[in-house]
Amino acid sequence: MSVLNQVLLHPKQRIGADFDAWRANRGGEGLLSALGEEGAGLIAMIRDAGLRGLGGSGYPTYRKWEYLASQSDTSDKYLIVNGNEDEPGTFKDRLLLAETPHQVIEGAAICALACNINHIVFYINPEQEAALDSMGAAVAQWQGSDLYSDLVERLGRPLELRVMASSGHYIGGEETAAIESVEGKFPFPRHKPPYPAESGVHGLPTLVNNTETLANVGHIVRNGVAWFQGLGLGAATGTKIYCLSGDVLKPGAYELPMGTPLQALVFDYGGGMLVGKKFKAVFTGGPSNTLLTPKDLDVALDFESVAERRSSLGTGAMIVVSEGTGIVKRVTEYVNFFADNSCGQCPACKTGTYYISRLLSRIDTGHGSRADLDTLVSLCQLLPGAGRCHLLDGAVKVVDSSLYHFRDEYDQAVEPIQ
Ligand code: SF4
Repeated sequence: MSVLNQVLLHPKQRIGADFDAWRANRGGEGLLSALGEEGAGLIAMIRDAGLRGLGGSGYPTYRKWEYLASQSDTSDKYLIVNGNEDEPGTFKDRLLLAETPHQVIEGAAICALACNINHIVFYINPEQEAALDSMGAAVAQWQGSDLYSDLVERLGRPLELRVMASSGHYIGGEETAAIESVEGKFPFPRHKPPYPAESGVHGLPTLVNNTETLANVGHIVRNGVAWFQGLGLGAATGTKIYCLSGDVLKPGAYELPMGTPLQALVFDYGGGMLVGKKFKAVFTGGPSNTLLTPKDLDVALDFESVAERRSSLGTGAMIVVSEGTGIVKRVTEYVNFFADNSCGQCPACKTGTYYISRLLSRIDTGHGSRADLDTLVSLCQLLPGAGRCHLLDGAVKVVDSSLYHFRDEYDQAVEPIQ
């Protein structure tokens, strides 16, 4: 199987902030074409293409756009391009921002046209200095370009393009936390409703889209819906950047057809397992997610197919572990990460992640009891939905999935039944 369909990570697109080189490579044609379309037509195009939220939600992109577009046309509106990316095992957005910044800006510009947005904030993790530098340079070039002038003329009002470093907190990637951050506050997730489209930055209609999602938009408008649909395998459309890491020979970011089988990702593109290692499982979508096991190697890596295996695609991160890796230990590390990153607003999350982390540590180090294990199982049933954002659910999900697939390892780790 060869890499036929690279689009976002195409070598010709990886030209950093060189605006002229990007234009010479047909960059900007999507926006030029969009300038001649109505907003509703652009949203319909994104709907028909089947573009989904590629930051982990898989939510149909057009629905968010449609909701924002339906808000008052005279109001200031914000788009936050979410590049906070801080989840272990996920490293795709930083690549797009650093190496192909103009296609991200083009996607955001088309979104602005479709939804009548006049403030675009590129919200980037401060640890990704290359991404911040590249986006800063790229935005400056846009602001002096004819493309930008044409865009402003068509919008009929000034368009702010701002690059900002997030606070660097993991939780700052949650959409309402990103809004707080853009307002200059600590990124505490907010209650929903109201939803960002109704009341976001400074109470104004706001859309938060993932970087990879927006990077697709210019290509869809330039090449058409049928082209985008044809990139995916089976019923899936488009491509996905899978972040492959762990015990494989060739870890990296692979942009492949959406729906590429797990087997092909790990054993063809990823070169297979490290010498002497045998595939045991993969943490899908990063640590806040679920596991797939050898019987799932045939699964197509798209949102629906992965969900049918009691798992989820998430961000497309695939952390491969081999036989001999202790699942309890690995899950303990992940839950510790979430306990450390809880913002502490919700008692169930603050105490729940801490308590789960303590239970797992006891079990992993051989000091746990069967009662501890029973408590862990109960917490996995009690805690989901008790937090304001996804952090608590993510921490529980990885524990619950590991209990489902590797209960024997937990049983062996606790004291024998008397
Ligand atoms: Fe904060 Fe956790 Fe509540 Fe999310 S669920 S808002 S991280 S305390």
